[in-house]
Amino acid sequence: MQPRRPTRPIYVGDSRTGIVQIGGGKPDSRGRETAPAPVSVQTMTAGYTHEVDKCVAEIHRLHAAGADIVRVAVPEKKDTAALKEILAQTSVPIVADVHFHFQRALEAVEAGVHKIRLNPGNITDREQVNAVIDACKAANGGRGIPIRVGVNEGSIIERRDKQKRAKELGAVFSDHKHGYLLAIMIAKLEEYLDIFSDRGFYDIAISAKSMSAPIVIDAYSEIAARFDHPLHLGVTHAGPRETGCIRSVVALGTLLAGGIGDTIRISYASDHVHEVEDGLELLWSLGLRERAGAELIACPTCGRIQVDLFSLTQGVRRKLAAEITVPMKVAVMGCVVNGPGEAEGADVAVFAGDRRGIIYVQGERVANVPEEEILDRLLAECKAFQARVQAGEAKLGEKRVDIVPPDPIGELGSGWEKMAAERLRGSTPLTVRGG
Ligand code: SF4
Repeated sequence: MQPRRPTRPIYVGDSRTGIVQIGGGKPDSRGRETAPAPVSVQTMTAGYTHEVDKCVAEIHRLHAAGADIVRVAVPEKKDTAALKEILAQTSVPIVADVHFHFQRALEAVEAGVHKIRLNPGNITDREQVNAVIDACKAANGGRGIPIRVGVNEGSIIERRDKQKRAKELGAVFSDHKHGYLLAIMIAKLEEYLDIFSDRGFYDIAISAKSMSAPIVIDAYSEIAARFDHPLHLGVTHAGPRETGCIRSVVALGTLLAGGIGDTIRISYASDHVHEVEDGLELLWSLGLRERAGAELIACPTCGRIQVDLFSLTQGVRRKLAAEITVPMKVAVMGCVVNGPGEAEGADVAVFAGDRRGIIYVQGERVANVPEEEILDRLLAECKAFQARVQAGEAKLGEKRVDIVPPDPIGELGSGWEKMAAERLRGSTPLTVRGG
């Protein structure tokens, strides 16, 4: 893991929603010293913004899942007209996503939105872009609101000027696509940032999304080396969660491990709650955010398994998500072969075996229960441990007793292992399967 890249910070939100700092480590636009903020997780609503009740309900659901910032599309005047009501009913910073129509940005700012996402490439009139910049600068009682500037792969190629488009596409696809595309992204970004600095506006975040993980990694690395604005990471058009997850995590994880990235949005053609869940899990896994709730460790199972571990693991996952808020480690292991080692660092662990499970709390054995009782007993131990942690009577990650593996032949062993043991003792002749 590389240290976080210092950036100028931006601030999103107000006293009612709480303010989310993005980036940091360099002085902000008012000259105040800052430290890097935790990487934030963003997502976007999938429904129509003008359907206020549905939009508010969706924002609540995304916020409850852990989203730090929620973006809404405002393609029409009726969408920006709904913003005031939406802002009054929600308590998470809201970003207005603007394309083509600068008036939507002005209306969103007027409604009190916390940030604007703008693509200067599809608002061709410089005066219109300037009007948006000036409005953002004056918003929030003169404190201003930030703007995200995107040079996403899908929107930087010229589409109206056919000659220009052919030239740029030719550059992209001839010879070495990657290099030409990066060159276009950087050139466009420099052009856009000039517009903002000409107006004395620096509260900017940058995005450079692509559907290709290698392009995302190279584009953001290049931008990080050249500009000190905070970066909004994302893989665009990543597809459904099943496939988009790998593509997003490999790109964003690589950048984040390299210290690059200040806020992330994972984009799925699936329920957007999954974008938040997976974004948080990515940050927790890299140690970039403090985990909220339990961390589940579970074995993949193999031919030794003698309980329904997949169902047990899913049951444990659901119960932990609903009832445990302390970041304890919980291990669900299929047998005693690798269980003790893999659960060594867990606060609460179960080793399953011959239709039974032996449960440990910080290395101390507390129960041996039949398979059908494992889930309830494990959860009861997790809740009791959580209560002790909250009362200051126990500390997370503190192992009190070394785990002594249960006897694989006695309490948890399989029929096959028991027969083998009998054979060793010479009391029962071993029948070879299929023999
Ligand atoms: S813990 Fe046991 S059942 Fe699970 S994968 Fe390892 S050896 Fe197989």
